[in-house]
Amino acid sequence: MTDHETLARLMADADVRQYDCYQCGKCSGGCPMADAMDLKPRGVMRCAQIGSLGRILNSNTIWLCTGCGACADRCPHDVNVPALIEEARYEAARRGLGRHDSEVLNKAFVANIKAFGRNHEMLLAGLYNVLALKPIQDMASVPHMLKKNLIGIKPNRIGATREIAELIERAEKWDDPMVATGRSQTPEVKK
Ligand code: SF4
Ligand code: SF4
Repeated sequence: MTDHETLARLMADADVRQYDCYQCGKCSGGCPMADAMDLKPRGVMRCAQIGSLGRILNSNTIWLCTGCGACADRCPHDVNVPALIEEARYEAARRGLGRHDSEVLNKAFVANIKAFGRNHEMLLAGLYNVLALKPIQDMASVPHMLKKNLIGIKPNRIGATREIAELIERAEKWDDPMVATGRSQTPEVKK
């Protein structure tokens, strides 16, 4: 399949049409992650319009987008940019284009949820820093965040931790992004 055909498939799966976007930029203006993105939501749509799939798949945008939906809410033409970003993320994963720091964060987050049933921010940050080999990243903010009760030292464990861990373990068996979206071309699903 050519990149042109792949892009057309991603757009169809996301139910997004390139020329619904007239590049007003309201999506980028409301995106909480835009400052960290190397391709802002408006840019994603521009790349889709000119057929630049590679630029989308190699951007950090597809790994930084939180799926909050603010861009879609603000769009005067109801263009669902996060749906397209999500499709692009799956396509990048199929092509082995994942980012090391995103994978590290995902692993640290899942380990955290399995242990406590909810996120413990301090542990997540610590695990991420160790695994991503960035031991002092954001450490200067810790005293301020502790003082303001934005993070806590002790984890706040929920009652159903075991059940949550079991759910995650079942989901981990479905670790192929194509399987996870029900679009697998893999004949057999691992059990
Ligand atoms: S807000 Fe909608 S129309 Fe405007 S640039 Fe973003 S996607 Fe395009
Ligand atoms: S869904 Fe993604 S791209 Fe859209 S505003 Fe939220 S973080 Fe930004």
